[in-house]
Amino acid sequence: MSTKVIIHIDRFKENFEALKDRIGENRRICVPVKADAYGHGALEIAKTSVEAGAFCLGVATVTEGTQLRKGGITAPILLFSQPDPERIPEIIESGITPFISDIWFADALNKYAEINREKLPVHIKIDTGMGRTGCLPEEACNLAKHISICPGLELTGTATHFAAADSADADDIAFTQRQLGRFKEAVRAIIDEGIDPGIIHTANSGAVILHPDSWFDMVRPGILLYGYKTAEENGIQVHYKPLTVKPVMELRTNIALIKKIKKGESVSYGRTWTAPCDTTIGVLQAGYADGLPLLVSGKWQVVINGKSYPLAGRICMDLCCVNLGTNSDVRRWDEAVIFGGSAPDAAELARRTGTIPYEITCNISGRLPKEYVTKHDIANDEKNQ
Ligand SMILES: *Cc1c(COP(=O)(O)O)cnc(C)c1O
Repeated sequence: MSTKVIIHIDRFKENFEALKDRIGENRRICVPVKADAYGHGALEIAKTSVEAGAFCLGVATVTEGTQLRKGGITAPILLFSQPDPERIPEIIESGITPFISDIWFADALNKYAEINREKLPVHIKIDTGMGRTGCLPEEACNLAKHISICPGLELTGTATHFAAADSADADDIAFTQRQLGRFKEAVRAIIDEGIDPGIIHTANSGAVILHPDSWFDMVRPGILLYGYKTAEENGIQVHYKPLTVKPVMELRTNIALIKKIKKGESVSYGRTWTAPCDTTIGVLQAGYADGLPLLVSGKWQVVINGKSYPLAGRICMDLCCVNLGTNSDVRRWDEAVIFGGSAPDAAELARRTGTIPYEITCNISGRLPKEYVTKHDIANDEKNQ
């Protein structure tokens, strides 16, 4: 075994069930699988999600959507970001449902869809305070009217995205509520015009946890399904039992080499770590190119045979070193868990390096093989040891 990413599919399914419990059976679920499903493998996660009952999937690029279609996914695919106009033919060929922020894009899509005598499903995206994509709330009704007269387009959904829904600060709670208010007003205007806004959806992970009044017809939580709670219900009036999720990703490697070093000798670039006494160093086959952040050098412990050992010296591109101590019974090729599994998870790694779990899992390198495990596989694993 060398370095690999273990994806605990059984945990993903449990997280999905926990989400369903939280939002109720009548709401749909869109699973964001952008950025290779936050580093977990888009196709596998998409397949598992659809099997578990997801209504649709969310991507950030047209290529991500096409890859899912090539992999056999037939569920609706929402394109969250604004694509370049030259990708429009592919959007239509792949049957991807884009978010529309303005009349220009509606026209550009319509022109091509009409030639192909197709009716492309589209969702209106309203910017209620994220300050990124989406039309202004007061423009939404006009955009809906425009789409309704485009023969090549069919309005099947209306959405917004929250800027601070994962924060329980009173200010941020109030801000999210203001975003919700603007959104509801815009949707009301569309309905009053006699236009069906389609599936109404707003909630990311934070809003699933903290804002039940934002769940509408469908929710779009990403990080929560991958097993990280970016907000806690603590102190918030939630009439639901606490939502528990488990981290899906685990990074494992093994010890490629073991060597003894003397007191005062340094390890790795920059000589930032020197042995305080004679000790044993293990060389692990994982570095920052694999997604182990350089910033966690000297601030992390890996787990080998159930025991924690501190990293020693700077993390290199492809390797890092661990201090096994004086009397270690660790042997060459033993397995080391870097994060997830029996070691602290990606969220803890993020805290130590001043970032967010999203960035940790997204940065896990595509060069690492992924192993998808279910409970059944783990049971077999344990039997074989
Ligand atoms: C990424 C994304 C989400 C999911 O966000 P999480 O914080 O991971 O829950 C939902 N909606 C849109 C539009 C997104 O881009």
